[in-house]
Amino acid sequence: MKSRWVDADAQAAVDHYEKLGVGNDLALRVYTTRLLGQDPQLVLHGGGNTSVKTRIPDLVGDETEVLCVKGSGADMATIEPAGLPAVRLAALKKLRALDTLSDDELVRIQRANLIDPAAPNPSVEILLHAFMPHTFVDHTHAGAVLSLVDQPNGAELAAEVYNGRMGFVPYVMPGFGLAKKAAGVYEANRDVEGLILHKHGIFTFGASAREAYERMIEMVTRAEERLARRRNSVFVACELPERIAPYSEVAPILRGACSLKDPMVEGAWRRLIFDFRTSSAILNYVNGADVMRYSQGGVVTPDHTIWTKNRPLVVQPPEDGKLADFARDARAAARTFVERYQAYFARNNERWEGKKRPLDPLPRVVLVPGLGLIGLGRSKRDAGIAADIAEAALKVVTDAEAIGRFESIGEADMFDMEYWSLEQAKLGSEPEKPLAGQVVVITGAGGVIGAATARAFAGAGAEIALFDIDERAVVARAKEIGGAAMAVKCDVADPATVRAAFVRVVEAFGGVDIVVSNAGIAWMGLIGEVDEAVLKQSFEVNFYGHQRVAQNAVKVMRQQGTGGCLLFNVSKQAINPGPRFGPYGLPKAATLFLVRQYALDYGADGIRSNAVNADRVRSGLLNADMIAERSAARGLSERDYMAGNLLQREVTAEDVAQAFLHQALELKTTGDVTTVDGGNIAAALR
Ligand SMILES: [Zn+2]
Repeated sequence: MKSRWVDADAQAAVDHYEKLGVGNDLALRVYTTRLLGQDPQLVLHGGGNTSVKTRIPDLVGDETEVLCVKGSGADMATIEPAGLPAVRLAALKKLRALDTLSDDELVRIQRANLIDPAAPNPSVEILLHAFMPHTFVDHTHAGAVLSLVDQPNGAELAAEVYNGRMGFVPYVMPGFGLAKKAAGVYEANRDVEGLILHKHGIFTFGASAREAYERMIEMVTRAEERLARRRNSVFVACELPERIAPYSEVAPILRGACSLKDPMVEGAWRRLIFDFRTSSAILNYVNGADVMRYSQGGVVTPDHTIWTKNRPLVVQPPEDGKLADFARDARAAARTFVERYQAYFARNNERWEGKKRPLDPLPRVVLVPGLGLIGLGRSKRDAGIAADIAEAALKVVTDAEAIGRFESIGEADMFDMEYWSLEQAKLGSEPEKPLAGQVVVITGAGGVIGAATARAFAGAGAEIALFDIDERAVVARAKEIGGAAMAVKCDVADPATVRAAFVRVVEAFGGVDIVVSNAGIAWMGLIGEVDEAVLKQSFEVNFYGHQRVAQNAVKVMRQQGTGGCLLFNVSKQAINPGPRFGPYGLPKAATLFLVRQYALDYGADGIRSNAVNADRVRSGLLNADMIAERSAARGLSERDYMAGNLLQREVTAEDVAQAFLHQALELKTTGDVTTVDGGNIAAALR
């Protein structure tokens, strides 16, 4: 590992922040914090922290000695000075004399001593930084150091590699206890350049930002060099079936297995989103004959547990053509995982006199021999974090096994970390949105109604896949929504592109829960004279298009076994034909029947099928020219034409989107048609 310190860049940071009124110490602290944070071998997703002791004016202008320490959960790669809240140092140092200090008390004291009362909470490792006398203190969970010391003889290995230059702190959970212990180790030998924390990570110290940073690089490099020497070969591969089923067939089965029925609401499930990874290193790990031993050892550093839980679910290799067997085994394995987690919770909560509330017991990482690993989360973002951490952890364990035997902290320590209120705070306390964990496909998403629907479902917390024949339009819509929203080019008139589009969604998210089948094209013509080719073309899009989308969705939903929801845009034409609109209305009427057929045939699978019958909505099918032409033909103003209904209100794409969302949330409603037309007795269902 090489130092990435560049004098010119450091100076540029100093100059830049000086203009913003930030002192040199803090500017350089930001510079090297980013250098550390941008290297995934050192820091991942909010792990690690840094600090600087400096002097700044407080809010009334009095010069004050402070500790600027990374805010809890902040991202080091992109940190700004505001991400390193300043706390009065004298108050923190005083705490060293206490015998015990509760987490709540620590949080109260640090908040009371923040220079800016609106600043974020400082890192949970604040006191360790405060108790060291050095100006700059850097802390990472560097993978190479973890491979070296996540071993039963981690202390000996650290002594061999660091030769007295680093202190060694036996495992203690982060917080006040660890800070006191680390301070004791440092005070026993004030010459050390940093501390190795057994089964946790590394601290380095410096009088300057550069010194602390470059010590980190040097110490991690020494660990890397040791890992490169005297390696055992890892891992011996297990016997795999000759043909492994593709991930797109396997994922929905696993996603169903890793879901939980909501005990409070009949028909509701707790679902997770998937993020799949594979590489030669991942396959070498998951295909090992001994994977059930080394993968189940526990986390490589304690703060991973909030993202990955303590251990992954391992399933059988999925043999092509034998997915029914795979599904049975995978469900049993997931059930066992859940039961074990619940037992682990109950066992350890006893020590806490029943004070802790259980988190969901579902796995956050699944290892699939023959395929790779999957990160799981309530959102695509969380699933990606779990996958990143699992990938990094797998490398740590691989290297640990290459020089010895991987060993994690004990179960009680893992539990105390997983259920530590200060760790849970990193996950945020916002209430979950109603469609969190669900995957929604929307066809015709490049259009006005499709786009409004995509926005509505994204707002309800779902992951969104937008399908449209117009790729540019749908890419732009996905960008507007942001996050993990994906754009897929799909022509519903072409069975192959529909199939391929569903494969892409399953590969991206793990499955499909809700489909809004909205794509349509309006053809016109007097029914007695219309060319049969036109009628057939319209049926291809306005009937078979819906059928193909629904058929592909139902296949995935049944593999998952957690129900699902099909929603169709049938339009007013399905119920109340308009003059010369036969070529459009006829297939739409067939689609209305299709809605009911799906409701009937798949109700027992928990799959609901509903439709929205909307009318006179500004969209690609009713554009400005058509509105001008039709309102003129009726002798009406455009406004009166658009609001020509019982309520005299114009119906918008957002109204249609809200109707779809409502149907998606109504778990006891199927075979329903919701009318969104401002009132039109001739089009009323009877
Ligand atoms: Zn740490």
